[in-house]
Amino acid sequence: MSARLLLIGPPGAGKGTQAQRLSEALGVPAISTGDIFRMHLRNETELGLKAKAFMDAGDNVPDSLTNDLVRDRLSQPDAAAGFLLDGYPRTTDQVRALDEFLAEHGTSMDAVVELVAEPDVVVERLKKRALDQGRADDDEAVVRHRLDVYAQQTAPLIGVYAERGLLAKVDGIGEIAEVTERIESALAARGILFTA
Ligand code: ADP
Repeated sequence: MSARLLLIGPPGAGKGTQAQRLSEALGVPAISTGDIFRMHLRNETELGLKAKAFMDAGDNVPDSLTNDLVRDRLSQPDAAAGFLLDGYPRTTDQVRALDEFLAEHGTSMDAVVELVAEPDVVVERLKKRALDQGRADDDEAVVRHRLDVYAQQTAPLIGVYAERGLLAKVDGIGEIAEVTERIESALAARGILFTA
C-alpha cells in the first residue's frame, strides 16, 4: 500500500533500525538523510566534502544542501508510491521544503512516528555504537551536542505534526521487535496496514 511516513526522535532512539524493518513490512523505501550523507562522505563527493565538517561536529548540514538532496531522492520512481523518512525533516525550514514538495505532487504525509527515548538511554546506546561501528560523531562530547541540536531544532517539529493530527508517540525502549510491533499497531490505528 502507499504510505508516506516519517520517524522522528533523538539520535540513538533506534530510528534507523526501525525504519529498515518497517520499510520491508510496508514495501516502501526507507530514506535516511544520515545514511545518504555518510555515503557521500565515503565516496568523497562534492556534497560529502561540504557536509563533512558539520557532521563531524554533530551539527545539522545546512538546510539548502539537505533539502536539495531529499527532493532528488523523493523524485526517484521507487518513492512515488510511498516512503519512510528517517532523520528528515530536522528543522522548520526542512518541514517547509517537504510540505512544498508534497504539495507539488498533490500529496501529503500520512503519519509521523515519534520514537521516545530518554537522553541517558540514548547516550549509553551511542557509546556502544561508537565501539561497534566507529562512527566519529558517536564520540561522547559530539553525542551530547547532537542531543542539544535535536532539542533546539528538531524537537519543536513534534508539536507541528501533532497540531496536524499526524503524530503517533511510541516508546522506543525495549526489544527491537517489541518496538516494531508498537509502531505497527500505532500505524494500524491510523489505517496504515501491514500485509506481512
Ligand atoms: P542521528 O539521528 O543518530 O544523529 P543521522 O545518521 O540521522 O544520525 O545523522 C548524522 C548526521 O548527518 C547529523 O548529525 C547531521 O550532521 C547530518 N544530517 C542527517 N540528516 C540531516 C538533516 N535532515 N539535516 C541536516 N543534517 C542532517
